[in-house]
Amino acid sequence: MNEDCIFCKIVKGEIPSTKVYEDEKVLAFEDINPIAPVHTLVIPKEHFDSFMELNDAELEAHLNKVIKEVAKIKGVDEKGFRLVTNIGADGGQAVKHLHYHILGGMKMPTRNM
Ligand code: AMP
Ligand code: ZN
Repeated sequence: MNEDCIFCKIVKGEIPSTKVYEDEKVLAFEDINPIAPVHTLVIPKEHFDSFMELNDAELEAHLNKVIKEVAKIKGVDEKGFRLVTNIGADGGQAVKHLHYHILGGMKMPTRNM
């Protein structure tokens, strides 16, 4: 856990969130500032600064499984969706706790994202 991390605070329940899925290791919740009709974030409960720091193959596989499950829960699995994880400054990562954006419910633009 990282004291100053807002997503760690969400995991601990210190900041409210609209939960979509939760298990022992992973949490999914609605993005507070959605850019698409479906915009859900999937995070490991354990703090990793970004995708680059994730070094646990079992957790990585579990996250991938949960992402697919959340896509089904949100009803975007059949029509498709965009899966994004921003990394570092050039990647436009604002929150330094690994998270995957599930974006859908509309035809996502193919340029200028
Ligand atoms: P990124 O730019 O990839 O780091 O994305 C961070 C995302 O976290 C943005 O889409 C924000 O809208 C979202 N976000 C920030 N604070 C919260 C919060 N308290 N609850 C839910 N989503 C948040
Ligand atoms: Zn964190």
